[in-house]
Amino acid sequence: MSMHIPFDNSYATLPDGFFTRLDPTPVKGARMLAWNTDLAQQLGIDGQDANVFAGNTVPDGAAPLAQLYAGHQFGNYNPQLGDGRAILLGEVIDQDGTRRDIQLKGSGPTPYSRMGDGRAWLGPVLREYVVSEAMHALGIPTTRALAAVATDEPVYREQGALPGAVLTRIAASHLRVGTFQIFAHRGEIDALRTLTDYAIARHHPQADGPLGLLSAVCVAQAELVAAWMSVGFIHGVMNTDNCTISGETIDYGPCAFMDAYHEGRVFSSIDQMGRYAFGNQPRIAVWNMAQLATALIQLFDDKERAVEEATAIVHAMPGQLQTAWLRRFGAKIGLAEATPEDQPLIEDLLAMMQAQSADFTNGFAALGTETARDQFTDRAAFDAWEVRWKARLPDTALMARTNPQIIPRNHRIEAMIDAAVAGDMAPFTRLMDALAAPYNLPDTYDDLRRPPTEDEIVPATFCGT
Ligand code: AMP
Ligand code: MG
Repeated sequence: MSMHIPFDNSYATLPDGFFTRLDPTPVKGARMLAWNTDLAQQLGIDGQDANVFAGNTVPDGAAPLAQLYAGHQFGNYNPQLGDGRAILLGEVIDQDGTRRDIQLKGSGPTPYSRMGDGRAWLGPVLREYVVSEAMHALGIPTTRALAAVATDEPVYREQGALPGAVLTRIAASHLRVGTFQIFAHRGEIDALRTLTDYAIARHHPQADGPLGLLSAVCVAQAELVAAWMSVGFIHGVMNTDNCTISGETIDYGPCAFMDAYHEGRVFSSIDQMGRYAFGNQPRIAVWNMAQLATALIQLFDDKERAVEEATAIVHAMPGQLQTAWLRRFGAKIGLAEATPEDQPLIEDLLAMMQAQSADFTNGFAALGTETARDQFTDRAAFDAWEVRWKARLPDTALMARTNPQIIPRNHRIEAMIDAAVAGDMAPFTRLMDALAAPYNLPDTYDDLRRPPTEDEIVPATFCGT
């Protein structure tokens, strides 16, 4: 089947040291499993050739390459990462005039694969597809999923042989903190300057120089992390190579939306210390921005002055996070103009949720309804809180816009993956349909709102991506 992608590539025109030109590695038996019609239209793509999105056919106008980057993983610097299992096909300008990357993930080995096979299995591909599209429907900046293709080549992980798949990821760009770190650490200052200019032009055109860029990324990341917190999302691997310059959520690996609320919740089985626990995410975002600052400072002759200015910018971020958090959680309890005096009201609700293992999503969605107190085991404590809350005259329309009725719950994702592995895509389709309308969910999807039973709880979400 013929198809057309209106490529307009910019990254491929950057200097050689930024990437390795490389075609995706062909696979046997490509079948389109999921195709995002609306997104394809937004990108000006017609047709849906499984061979293109499996990496078997390089479409006209593509300039395939694997990007180079480094990054801090769990706090330790890794001097070279890079696209170990991804190929950037190129970019298009979408209908809103925004430049978007089209990247295949799971498209075979690259010079940056290290010990990896360059592949992905069906489970994580569908997980990323569902969770990234759910994030988009929630109104939170994120990379998106255009296609999921199944292959006939098994992928070997701890669990054994698994069905292979390739995801097509769409992103405002794949520039990360780690993209800056690699050039800074190597002392490649010209490359760092080129990258900085490119990032400013592409993402933050109003930014004045490297420190203007730093400021803009801090603001974008503060907004992003506050948005995650407001829907109970735990990213799971907030390494600097998974932290975008655009402010989009990227890399849905061992991520999860919480069921029962707990500040210390961790899903990733590799995160033994809880570095990326739910409540730690704001602190980690600041830490990541400090790494970006460290890289950008290399561009200045007067380092002492640059350090001083960059420090002030990074130190402003906790305040930005706090403001964004208060705005988001204020809205969740119906306060359009929450002030610091409202903070105890929000914190007391969260403390109650935590102490009583209340469901985060359903707890907020039920506020103001007659079932609200049923979300809590200590009803008297809730009733007392409710009296304080009602005195603030909450705006229920605002709450309906900010408290989703549905999130992609882990047990539903796992069941969807099991079904897909068995050849049944119906649970995937139904989940996608429901998640597309999180603030206006038709009653027919009520079953998907239910928290997991004891047996259904998925304790961890890292299973060899
Ligand atoms: P992640 O934890 O997914 O952000 O990946 C960290 C690094 O490992 C990146 O450089 C990835 O490209 C690389 N990587 C992850 N999985 C694979 C794989 N199966 N084959 C090759 N490289 C991989
Ligand atoms: Mg990554």
